[in-house]
Amino acid sequence: MIAKMQTTPAPHHAKVQARRWPNRELPETAEDDGASTIPELSEVAKACRRCPLWRNATQTVFGEGPDKAKVIFVGEQPGDQEDLAGKPFVGPAGKVFDAILDDAGVDRLKVYVTNAVKHFKFEPRGKRRIHSKPNAGEVQACRWWLDKELDLIKPNLAVALGATAAQSLLGKVVPIMKMRGAVVEREDGLRVFVTIHPSFILRIREPADKQAERERFLKDMKAVKTLMAA
Ligand code: SF4
Repeated sequence: MIAKMQTTPAPHHAKVQARRWPNRELPETAEDDGASTIPELSEVAKACRRCPLWRNATQTVFGEGPDKAKVIFVGEQPGDQEDLAGKPFVGPAGKVFDAILDDAGVDRLKVYVTNAVKHFKFEPRGKRRIHSKPNAGEVQACRWWLDKELDLIKPNLAVALGATAAQSLLGKVVPIMKMRGAVVEREDGLRVFVTIHPSFILRIREPADKQAERERFLKDMKAVKTLMAA
């Protein structure tokens, strides 16, 4: 079933005219100087100051994958390991994601993987950095880059991995468990498949429940594979 949904795409300006974050102490943000490839866009994003998350993170973690991938997977934000490596989905959740994609017959090298928010948000706790959920303003600010990725790649399917990704892609709060498995068509025609973030599987302690959730996610990824071919 494909549901139609009114979305509110972020405005596409030729240039970032000025900082949008109300913090007056922030320096001017990165300019979109006409990047026409993902590597160029990734380079420009390194100087992004559109929200305060750049301050404490190690680096921007931009998306990875073929420039003309048919499908783009969107997660929430980089985690601790991604922040250090500068690559998306290389931490524990990424390993679960890779294994299940493999089981579903989806070649990760042929898909584009990114996050709704490109800097790691965390709370320091001793020597550890604990994941902190990005707020709506940060998601909205970083949507600038996700929209640019979508413009360049022009996928025929986007997969929202979790609530933050769904909110960024669809411009509104999405009840994930209620919408899971649904395909929502945006006003610009992009189909968005809604599912959980793979870190949800990691957080389940009971082995039987964890296995059941893994099976559900595998079923979702098989549905994505079918949609990729459509
Ligand atoms: S999280 Fe996104 S919008 Fe905020 S500074 Fe980083 S790249 Fe820019």
